[in-house]
Amino acid sequence: MHEDLSRVVYSEDEIQRRVRELGAELAREYAGVRPLIVGILKGSFFFLADLVRAMDAPVELRFLKASSYGAGTVTSGNVVIDIASDLQADISGRHVLVVDDIIDTGVTLRRIVDLLAEKNPASLKVCVLLTKTAARRAEVRHDYAGFVCPPEFLVGYGLDYAERYRNLPYIGVLRPEIYI
Ligand code: 5GP
Ligand code: MG
Repeated sequence: MHEDLSRVVYSEDEIQRRVRELGAELAREYAGVRPLIVGILKGSFFFLADLVRAMDAPVELRFLKASSYGAGTVTSGNVVIDIASDLQADISGRHVLVVDDIIDTGVTLRRIVDLLAEKNPASLKVCVLLTKTAARRAEVRHDYAGFVCPPEFLVGYGLDYAERYRNLPYIGVLRPEIYI
């Protein structure tokens, strides 16, 4: 384990096992419709890569970038969404699945879902790796979730603190003294 972490919450094995289950479920749900999978950068990058490879079905990938944290550990509530040129294209009539790393307050995903819903997709669902139970500010429906996680600041498997720790293959709790 990385010395900046106090404990591992999800091991590499646990994550991989759960992601394979989700991928199999999604492949069944989207059989025959070639869904548009919209990854939210950068946090969902690793999850998305493993998830779509666990889906034995044709998919199309798009990305958009959202940020609210800056270098802090609490959501600023001030979400910036950057629609990559990828998403300017028409999504009407398509089956869209938004993939993100984690729902904390829900503010980020709420904004993204509202924005995509205006573009008249045939269906719009959300898949997150993690969902935090406490501190939900904006109601956002997630149709698929990997794990319900503790209300602590987590890093690894895409989750960062000031752009660090994303490439850890497991997810753990960052020692508070690192960010205080
Ligand atoms: P929300 O808008 O739901 O409060 O926050 C969502 C975004 O905040 C996530 O996509 C993620 O980038 C970031 N976030 C929320 N909780 C955590 C956490 O425990 N660790 C890290 N590294 N990022 C988090
Ligand atoms: Mg994020």
